[in-house]
Amino acid sequence: MLERFAKRSLLSLNDLLFHLPIRYQDKTRVVSISSLRIGDSVLVRGKLTQCKTHYARRSVLSCEINDGSGVISLRFFHFNKQQVAGLSRALDQGKWLKCFGDIKRGRQSLEMTHPEYRIIDQDDTIQVDEALTPIYPTTEGLSQLAIRNAIAQVIEHLKQQLEQPFKQDGQTGNDLVHDFLPASIRQTLQLPSLLDALLYLHAPPPDCPVFELIEGNDPYRQSLVFEELLAHQLSMKRAYQRQAQHYAYPFSYNKKSQGIEAQIPIQQYSEQFLKQLPFKLTNAQLRVIADIASDVKCSHPMQRLVQGDVGSGKTVVAAMAALYAIENGFQAALMAPTELLAEQHRDNFQHWLAPMGLSVAWLSGKSKVKQRREALQSIVDGSAQMIIGTHALFQAEVIFNHLGLVIIDEQHRFGVHQRLSLLQKGEELLTDNELPETESIKKYYPHQLIMTATPIPRTLAMTAYADLDCSIIDELPPGRTPVETVVLSEQRRDDILQRVHQACLNGRQAYWVCTLIEESEVLQCQAAEQTYELLCQQLPDLPIGLVHGRMKADEKKAVMQSFKQGELLLLIATTVIEVGVDVPNASLMIIENAERLGLSQLHQLRGRVGRGSQSSACVLMYGSPLSKNGKSRLMTLRETNDGFEVARKDLSLRGPGEVLGTRQTGLAEMRIADIIRDQHLIPEINRVAQMLINDYPEVVDPLINRWIGQKMNYQNV
Ligand code: ADP
Ligand code: MG
Repeated sequence: MLERFAKRSLLSLNDLLFHLPIRYQDKTRVVSISSLRIGDSVLVRGKLTQCKTHYARRSVLSCEINDGSGVISLRFFHFNKQQVAGLSRALDQGKWLKCFGDIKRGRQSLEMTHPEYRIIDQDDTIQVDEALTPIYPTTEGLSQLAIRNAIAQVIEHLKQQLEQPFKQDGQTGNDLVHDFLPASIRQTLQLPSLLDALLYLHAPPPDCPVFELIEGNDPYRQSLVFEELLAHQLSMKRAYQRQAQHYAYPFSYNKKSQGIEAQIPIQQYSEQFLKQLPFKLTNAQLRVIADIASDVKCSHPMQRLVQGDVGSGKTVVAAMAALYAIENGFQAALMAPTELLAEQHRDNFQHWLAPMGLSVAWLSGKSKVKQRREALQSIVDGSAQMIIGTHALFQAEVIFNHLGLVIIDEQHRFGVHQRLSLLQKGEELLTDNELPETESIKKYYPHQLIMTATPIPRTLAMTAYADLDCSIIDELPPGRTPVETVVLSEQRRDDILQRVHQACLNGRQAYWVCTLIEESEVLQCQAAEQTYELLCQQLPDLPIGLVHGRMKADEKKAVMQSFKQGELLLLIATTVIEVGVDVPNASLMIIENAERLGLSQLHQLRGRVGRGSQSSACVLMYGSPLSKNGKSRLMTLRETNDGFEVARKDLSLRGPGEVLGTRQTGLAEMRIADIIRDQHLIPEINRVAQMLINDYPEVVDPLINRWIGQKMNYQNV
């Protein structure tokens, strides 16, 4: 039994007390049958007027009760002989039934299936409950009743403790519900006390507004929601502070750039880099680089997140940060979530860095043994200044040589752990003789820069990224034309094909993206191969290429290269091109079965076009039938090109856990708060969190422990 409680993480009194109902049953009053509505869960009583068994696909026991105002039927499947005998006898004796169940539409009248029932006499006074019955989230093997009883005991225990406030002995009920929030805060925000809120939610009085209670809008629930969100905020701010206490090697600069770039500092490499760029940085890019520059000149690690829509030019920003590290004598590492994206970064950086005599090391899961050995060697002996790769970067045999900066691209694809393990690789301990006299042993961590193309609304960012400083690239490079998006049924495939054909003959380049529901990469690649063959037959005069995740690295590279150089006009691809692929001349994208992909993913894909100066188009081709949700996704994309707007919609459709990825499971796993529904509380929570940290530091840990416990390791950073 204990195991089952453990499975639901219900091991302590605290766990139980904060395991809150998802809904309630109202057994506090008897409802007259005439006033029943479909969907109600109610207690009714009535005279048993019929009881019979019959067979319709399976055996059914049907009864009817009448309370004078109306009739409802009761239906039971899998009934047993005793049940039938009992009810038949009750019918003969003119007995009444008291039943509780959900009201559904029946053949002739309303009905209850499998109600809880008891045989009574007409004049029996019916015992009703004094409070609503809570329904808790259950788990396999742990019944509703078991949980409910356990929690009822905790509450009973709590009430007893409260009656004897002076007989406390350490772990008493009072400690459990100790109100850590200062009374002044509760008062100003009109939040009921923790104890009141818990008692109310576990056993709401009969007259409470049940609907609001379930929706989470009533003040008692909001009071707990506030505390839970506060605990999360505190835990992340705490993580931020811990990290900020570590040391980092500060980077220094000796001059400022000129002209419109005057707001950022430069040294030899960053200066050279800016000079060789074929474009001017946007103001937004400059602002973010300035943020980074001021972070990395400090002796504590930077913890900065850069949010920027697809195509906003994050790579250049990353490159500047990397060069700041390199020109100060440190290595910089960049980790990307997919092979293809990492390769693209490698090629870009190589192109930028090689002319300066800097060397880029490359590590991926697919690197050959010899290449790998060479790369590892160049990393450990410091002959590589820039290191680029996939997850392979944080494997044990990678040993950095003075890692000064870690850059993580498309962070939502990585978990917290992965980010941390890369940081830990850069960790260095001060040796004794370097230790300043008064200091104990301190750790040096690399600066870290995290990039994401899923920008989220400000309030949400305040919570989701409370452990990071945020910068936003809120401007696209000039000359981009918004991508025109059309939504077409796959029945129009032939028309679409003609359109692609014509466009390519006019010198434009196009992507044709194949998707599949199945997560299986193998199937996706097969689908792409088939489409490739088909399109080669249908459009024999076009140079067509194919790229997917299972191809060999050099094959992939060769195909991407010839597409980039314009030798291939049409590129058939799986969603591997979703992130990072950058071919400015490609201006047309067809996405097959677009309805199968999530909003953010579609937006990312679409971001592969509209990168050059010519006008671009994206065709979202869907197979029918189109679900309501699927339609809503496609329409959103048709209507907007704005990544913020897309993310907002995506969050409301899928929730934060999905959209923000593994890093944010904590947000999705909250007990009662719902980060989307409760966003309006966040600015206030943010303020209160800061105040607690400054003025009431003693309550920070207890609050975090109560709500989050050991679940997340943000605190152990
Ligand atoms: P993302 O933010 O999606 O990672 P990238 O860094 O891949 O975007 O940049 C997209 C494209 O825009 C690249 O071709 C890049 O060279 C180009 N680019 C970046 N910054 C500018 C700029 N300031 N002006 C013009 N083009 C730019
Ligand atoms: Mg990018």
